[in-house]
Amino acid sequence: MSDTLQSDIKGIQGLGTKWQLLLASDLDIHTYDDLLQLYPYKYVDRSHIYQINELRSDMSHVQLCGYFASLQTISGGRQERLSAIFTDGTGQIEIVWFKSLSYVRATINATDEFMLFGKPTVFNGHLTIVHPEIERADKAQIVAGTLQPFYNTSEKMKKAGLNTKAIQKIMRNLFAQFPFGIPETLPPYIRNEYHLITRDQALRTLHFPKSARDMEYARFRMKFEELFFVQLGILRSRNINRHKTQGVKLSTAGPLLKDFYANHIPFEPTEAQKRVVREIWSDMNSGRQMNRLVQGDVGSGKTIVALMAMLIAVGNKMQACMMAPTEILAAQHYDGLSVMLKDMPVSIRLLMGSTKKRERNTILTELAEGKIDILIGTHALIEESVVFRNLGLAVIDEQHRFGVQQRAKLWGKAPIPPHILVMTATPIPRTLAMTVYGDLDLSVINQLPPGRKPVRTEHYFHNRRNELNRFIRSQLEMGRQVYEVYPLIEESEKMDFKDLTEGFEYTKQAFKDYNVCMVHGKLKNDVKEAEMQRFIRGEAQIMVATTVIEVGVNVPNASVMIIESAERFGLSQLHQLRGRVGRGADQSYCILMTSPELSNETRQRMQIMVDSTDGFRIAEADLQLRGPGNIEGTQQSGLPFALHIADLAHDSNLVSYTREVAERVLAADPLLQSNENVVLAERLKVLKNESVNWSSIS
Ligand code: ADP
Ligand code: MG
Repeated sequence: MSDTLQSDIKGIQGLGTKWQLLLASDLDIHTYDDLLQLYPYKYVDRSHIYQINELRSDMSHVQLCGYFASLQTISGGRQERLSAIFTDGTGQIEIVWFKSLSYVRATINATDEFMLFGKPTVFNGHLTIVHPEIERADKAQIVAGTLQPFYNTSEKMKKAGLNTKAIQKIMRNLFAQFPFGIPETLPPYIRNEYHLITRDQALRTLHFPKSARDMEYARFRMKFEELFFVQLGILRSRNINRHKTQGVKLSTAGPLLKDFYANHIPFEPTEAQKRVVREIWSDMNSGRQMNRLVQGDVGSGKTIVALMAMLIAVGNKMQACMMAPTEILAAQHYDGLSVMLKDMPVSIRLLMGSTKKRERNTILTELAEGKIDILIGTHALIEESVVFRNLGLAVIDEQHRFGVQQRAKLWGKAPIPPHILVMTATPIPRTLAMTVYGDLDLSVINQLPPGRKPVRTEHYFHNRRNELNRFIRSQLEMGRQVYEVYPLIEESEKMDFKDLTEGFEYTKQAFKDYNVCMVHGKLKNDVKEAEMQRFIRGEAQIMVATTVIEVGVNVPNASVMIIESAERFGLSQLHQLRGRVGRGADQSYCILMTSPELSNETRQRMQIMVDSTDGFRIAEADLQLRGPGNIEGTQQSGLPFALHIADLAHDSNLVSYTREVAERVLAADPLLQSNENVVLAERLKVLKNESVNWSSIS
């Protein structure tokens, strides 16, 4: 029975080839099941009849009941139109038609009572309804007393007549294909325990609603189902992986970690850093493969945590590697770690795309022989030619630049998959992390090293440029350095590039007595590296750049971050950029430059940045304002299945709730093999086959 759900929509009565193709191309709807999940985006209450004297132009669709007092053809102007006066005893309103004029003339008259349904707008300076639905009141009774659903349709669909009305008709025909109701996907025990109505009831209510009250139950049931299956899918593949992937059991924390901690560590770790190292150690000691995500705000000190984890592996006579998203970052890690390890018996090397052939060959040989303990690098690390002797731990820094597939490649580098530690500075709200990174265990460094002064943030409009320049100069005179960042966004790359180079020229002119360098992604690697080094060494005082500097760069003397066209960046990205300053002992500043014409949402986003330096709060706000699709880090990782009705931003309670339900179900039946759970296993299979991006990597 449930296979009927997967039938091709071409089997639905009244759905011609043209419409089928449109549904597929514009809404990705191919099966009955897909179509059932095309949920109306709004409902209009047609049980209520408005009076003309209460109408306002900001109302959405309203229903009126009354008589046409006049009808007039107006031919002047660009286009012939019909204008009628409609009255209901409380007032009158003009009704206008530009199309279907002969139909209107034939339909309306002065004697019958009419129901009219449309949206009030202001036209020619007064309240008007353009192109309402009209029906004789005696016939209109059918719809009165119900909520009318509205479906999202594309322009192309509308042109082809595939509008809300047509979709409603198709929906009716679709339900007719299920004389025994839409098949259930949740076993009765779950439905009973969590008070869920049947799938059939829920879907009928959503597509043919009778009352707002029913709708609540229906929405809850379908949201529950969606989020529950997401969690069930994630947790079950995690179970399966855990069953089959043993990990290297490291039986001791090793002599190196002790030595480092006692004699070489440059500062006392924060409590949060110590806790996370303990969590990592307990994974590595468990006999199962570690798959842990360490989240910590910019500057929270993730590097040292990674180093201690690597020292555990090396102390157990295994190798470790650490992969960073850019050469600049990899080199910076290499330099920093080399200094900390200089008096320890640990050999550390750097491998990147730009590494010279001879050096590369030496590294590869020594790596295979086990002479290298720690290898730092970029994507170059996952190339096939890179063979370890016994890789025990792979660290991935700044996760959001890597896709899951790349993570998976590291697995292949050892007979027993290495422990995996992923580090990200993009704080992801818990509920989202639970879903997007549901396959990883989570550690949070929720504390900054002592003595940090929060970065002071201000929002300037362009017209305060002179004032800004005076401020920059005062900082430069104190010996500080300044970043100036421009957006570079692919679609408008040419224009952005012009902004960047013009900004560079302007800044050079305005600060003739200082050195200005420029860094962007189009520069050759060696040029970029050289420019970067000028800034790191303090030879250049101002760096004009694109977001290439976003991740990880560490120049403690830089105290000002100017972000041009800040409105074009997401909150999390702004937070990342701001994290480039405030790394030294001095008070640091972040200036958000925008045009004065801003939408309310943008104004709010800028205000959040001004008010808060807490990455988690900012991420939470970003999620609320822009929805999960825009949160950095979620694009590549993706959700296992698309959500149609639930929404990670607004249904976060339900995310945690369904997670618990899924955990309980799997605790009792880890592989979903019991009779009552077969329906769950089957549904998961269907959902997985449908989703293109799903890869079960933990
Ligand atoms: P991130 O989490 O952004 O990668 P880093 O590991 O680069 O942060 O650390 C940021 C700076 O803070 C570095 O200069 C590092 O040496 C310093 N740091 C890290 N932990 C501590 C600590 N516990 N006490 C003092 N300084 C620390
Ligand atoms: Mg870092």
